[in-house]
Amino acid sequence: MGGFFGVAAKRDCVLELFYGIDYHSHLGTRRGGMAVYGENGFDRAIHNIENSPFRTKFDKDVNSMKGYLGIGCISDYEPQPLLIQSRLGSFAITTVGKINNADELLQQLYNDKQSFQEMTSGMVNATELVSALICTKDSLLEGIKYVQEVIDGSLSLLVMTRAGIYAARDKMGRTPIVLGKKDDAYCISFESFAYMNLGYKDYKELGPGEIDFVTPDGVEVLAEPRDEMRICSFLWVYYGYPNATYEGVNVEEMRYRCGEKMAMRDGGSIHADMVAGVPDSGIAHAIGYSNEAHIPFSRPFIKYTPTWPRSFMPTNQNQRNLVAHMKLIPVQALIDGKSMVLIDDSIVRGTQLRETTEYLYESGAKEVHVRPACPPIMYGCKYLNFSRSKTEMELIARQVIRDWEGDFVPAEVLKEYADPTSDKYNKMVDEICKRQNFTTLRYNRLDDMLDAIGIDPCKVCTYCFDGKE
Ligand code: SF4
Repeated sequence: MGGFFGVAAKRDCVLELFYGIDYHSHLGTRRGGMAVYGENGFDRAIHNIENSPFRTKFDKDVNSMKGYLGIGCISDYEPQPLLIQSRLGSFAITTVGKINNADELLQQLYNDKQSFQEMTSGMVNATELVSALICTKDSLLEGIKYVQEVIDGSLSLLVMTRAGIYAARDKMGRTPIVLGKKDDAYCISFESFAYMNLGYKDYKELGPGEIDFVTPDGVEVLAEPRDEMRICSFLWVYYGYPNATYEGVNVEEMRYRCGEKMAMRDGGSIHADMVAGVPDSGIAHAIGYSNEAHIPFSRPFIKYTPTWPRSFMPTNQNQRNLVAHMKLIPVQALIDGKSMVLIDDSIVRGTQLRETTEYLYESGAKEVHVRPACPPIMYGCKYLNFSRSKTEMELIARQVIRDWEGDFVPAEVLKEYADPTSDKYNKMVDEICKRQNFTTLRYNRLDDMLDAIGIDPCKVCTYCFDGKE
């Protein structure tokens, strides 16, 4: 998915920028980048972070870069931030989101005789496309508003000029932007916790579609927030770091509530020796379940963190499966002869969870009752570059449905499968349980998950579970 961070300070901001970006490392695996503006003009560095963390890769840049304005990112796809020289002036730009109509937008720009650099993948850099769209208008502000309107998908961005930083949140607020403040600086962040240790206090959260201009002296609202919002529910369930808070709802607390809800639905019917979570995001859901069900929380496998510090690498699926397997080491003494409730944030393809369960049985587990913290994923994400699922047919729920219904499944039939009160849903869950070799399987319900988030459900995106736009 990716995340970004920016600083506007009355003194050099490079070190703060460096740490602020680094705290977004859980959101992407491919590239990191930072751009600054100061006495020496614009400066920028981009590195591949697939095999070593952001901090290691940017160690040298921090010492050589200078500037009082800065933006940077962790990117799952294209290299960024980009430095652009245009008729609207020089600027640096970084983006988070997904552009579904990139081909159509590119064609419009080609018709205007524009050209783009080609990335090694043969694609045009999505951030470059956004900057070109911005530059079709008469001011940066008009250009950013235009981009918010024409992009199908989602897009939040930071644009840094010589005077300050434009922060624009996606028009439906699928991803967050928050501002922090201290005496001599403001910062702009995807993750709210990223600035806490840098001495900033919460200043404000941008609303959907809001555009602010941030300088070392203050924040000006250039476009008011819209009413309608669809913030991604997966931020709480899986993507977000436990310390993060979105729309006033902390990730860790939300996960405890999800666990509680799942325990309440089980209603004391599971007599297990322990509740365990698949690290990392399953842990908090498991704590919530354990507290509610009064079944001890335990860690039957523990992540080997000294050499596998990152939670989300690499992007190649086979390598990722191998890494996931290598990272987890069983605590044999806790598993042998025991039954457990095993909580994961979600089941996407099912491959990793099946391997984990097999490995628990091999280590002597008697029963593994699986409780995913979100409903079955039925649709691929249209709004974010959600790198866990490439196509809908890789989703385990869709594989089962295809085996029964064929390749073309009418939308109404899919909706039935997504309804936890329908026979089709129950049949599908039983089949997934059988294929995955779990003792029992019960997914968290969508209404319970939304209750656990606790904000107005109309403001939360649930498209991947129920297909509602
Ligand atoms: S479709 Fe799913 S992953 Fe994508 S924004 Fe909506 S809730 Fe998030």
